Amino acid sequence: MKQNTTNSQSLEKNAKNRSVHQVADAKTALEGEGFLVHRAFPNNSLREFDPFLLLDEMGPMVLSAGQAKGAPDHPHRGFETVTYMIDGVFEHKDSHGHSGKLRPGDVQWMTAGSGVIHSEMPEKEFLDKGGTLHGFQLWVNLPKKDKMAKPHYQDVLANKIPVAQNNDGIKVKVIAGESMGKKSVIDTKTPIMYLHYTIPPGAKTVQTVPQNYNAFAYVVNGEGLFGGEQRPAHKEQIVLFERNGNEITIKAPDDAVTSLDVLLIAGVPLGEPVARYGPFVMNTEGEIRQAILDYNSGKMGKIDF
Ligand code: FE
Repeated sequence: MKQNTTNSQSLEKNAKNRSVHQVADAKTALEGEGFLVHRAFPNNSLREFDPFLLLDEMGPMVLSAGQAKGAPDHPHRGFETVTYMIDGVFEHKDSHGHSGKLRPGDVQWMTAGSGVIHSEMPEKEFLDKGGTLHGFQLWVNLPKKDKMAKPHYQDVLANKIPVAQNNDGIKVKVIAGESMGKKSVIDTKTPIMYLHYTIPPGAKTVQTVPQNYNAFAYVVNGEGLFGGEQRPAHKEQIVLFERNGNEITIKAPDDAVTSLDVLLIAGVPLGEPVARYGPFVMNTEGEIRQAILDYNSGKMGKIDF
């Protein structure tokens, strides 16, 4: 996307508080075995937001017994998948023998690197009983030098994620980066910020975001006023910020009936070419062909347990 026109640069050169570039609706899509997601991007108007490649919100939806669906064995190469559960329980397994469960509030930061085949399926008990499913998956691109790195996981239980709260009742879960005096326990390959804010009606946060980060917000629930101009956005909308300052302001309207629940995600753009084909994200078409060959010839392994 176009970050800085000559005009906005000269007008806002000294501004600290970022303004909003665009507000857009997430689009519904079907993923895996056919579960519904709200996809903030990629779509027709936004292919990626360097270094981010995708943001899906699964649900929220209430599933009856036997109705939950997942994503059976599939590969990834060249980037990271970050799964953040709000409600429901998922189970994952992969071709490197790694497995585990993701419960409400847990985060899995998976560096696919050179390649994994994994499955992301509803846990048996959750599938049998049904219940509310709600979660997020973010894809973070890897720099060229890390695309073929050894696959790596960071599984972080809900109670290990730092949470800060202030006197205005604002709460933030620090999944990556730093906020309100708390620092994340997750290491990222390039500098990334991933914050989950809950802001009561009338309260306002001013979050420091380094000027060189691309930043966006995704409204999980309620409505908010974003940036220096207090641009409104509501549930299932994404707000892309200009890179024209080192602070981001988010306010919950005074007359809001519910708290604003919002993800604030930011990172340093890689500025490298993106070649993208389904679950493979590399720098060149040749590397994509190689990824397909490696997958088809079994070099990414298989799930055999
Ligand atoms: Fe996956």
